[in-house]
Amino acid sequence: MSARALLIRGATVLTMDAGLGDLAGADVRVADGRIAAVGQGLRAEPGDEVIDATGMLLLPGLIDTHTHMWQGPLKGLGAAMWGMADYHKHIFSLRERVGAEDMHDATLACGMEMLDNGITTVLDFCHNVMSPEHALRALDAHRANGQRVLFAYGMLGSFATLKEDHVWRLAQVRELAASLAGDETTPLRLGVALGSLEYAGMALFEEEAATGRALKLPMTFHQNVAGQVHELEAAGLLGPDMLPVHCNPTLDAELDVLAAHGCGISFTPESEVGDGRNISVFARSHRAGVTPSLGVDVPSRVALDLFSQMRLTFWLMRNEEAEAERHAGRTPLTRYPGVPFIQPRHLLEYVTVNAARAVGLGDVLGRIAPGCLADLLLLRGGAYGPSLGDPAAHVVLQSTVADVDTVVIGGRVRKRAGQLTDLDRNDAIAASQRMRHRLFA
Ligand SMILES: [Zn+2]
Repeated sequence: MSARALLIRGATVLTMDAGLGDLAGADVRVADGRIAAVGQGLRAEPGDEVIDATGMLLLPGLIDTHTHMWQGPLKGLGAAMWGMADYHKHIFSLRERVGAEDMHDATLACGMEMLDNGITTVLDFCHNVMSPEHALRALDAHRANGQRVLFAYGMLGSFATLKEDHVWRLAQVRELAASLAGDETTPLRLGVALGSLEYAGMALFEEEAATGRALKLPMTFHQNVAGQVHELEAAGLLGPDMLPVHCNPTLDAELDVLAAHGCGISFTPESEVGDGRNISVFARSHRAGVTPSLGVDVPSRVALDLFSQMRLTFWLMRNEEAEAERHAGRTPLTRYPGVPFIQPRHLLEYVTVNAARAVGLGDVLGRIAPGCLADLLLLRGGAYGPSLGDPAAHVVLQSTVADVDTVVIGGRVRKRAGQLTDLDRNDAIAASQRMRHRLFA
């Protein structure tokens, strides 16, 4: 079923496409779920829905490459946490009590809020598949929301029964791979969230990766412990279909290994800083050619907002560079070739082109170019007017979720003039309350 064709007129278009660049006062036509044309003075065809985007910025829908959506309604529970021990004690331990209906309600609430905030695609790292029903109900919620989703089926369950549970989990991955089979346009795709090497061990990890590869499923895993990249390299397991997450203890030599295998890394700056991790890996990976992307990670402590992630990440990276200059005695700060390295536009690349690649859709998503999937975001220029200079810098340094005017996913208008078109925010609020009631009442 295809939506009505769409002509978006008169926007400042940040195509994020190397060939097309930024276009002022430009139009984008969408038909059959894809970008049909990009340029100035496009003609509306009979039946087109026309959106006047004068004064607005048009960019690819934002892509989050690492979020545990089952934690959506737990917002605030992790607010004052200090390090991973707190996380394990207060949040991760709740997994055992989160039932299949909670998975549905949490996923519905979390996905709808993300969509409302301009996140058109998410990699749901679902590490709470405590029963087959848990996965099925989370998938039901994704279908109801219609967000573009890579559902990374979590292999990590109760630590005590990890090995026994491995059997039914792999069986369900095989079943779901058949039932969710589609092509690049399918909104809900299956992936595998591999067990963390430090908990699962190499034998289980290898079996999971072999299954994922045989089924051609994108894979992702938490990489929290030093030396694991070299271990995986030695086992012959790395590949462009694998997205490591965090990678804070990763050495430069390991980044070269990841780059050689065509891997990206998903960084989750707010949660990583909150855990006291070393974030020098952001810039080191970028320089090494390992494409960074961003994720919210833990909605229990981090807002479902990629604008704040982009801004925080930019300033963290700038701060690191400035600190290096101070340590070298080069103050006041002076420009010289290669310094400063990180630019605002890089952050927009992290959540569009890089992230599209990370979820296995690098050829068709994350850019506004003919043939690409029509996932789009119209941003108001700001209530008090736009910035001078680079519009990408405006998005990264000035925009907020309150500026999200229109959201299009697969050519369908899901939010228009600041209002969701076919979802009811009250359904998300009610779902969130149901889960909280079951867990805490
Ligand atoms: Zn995580």
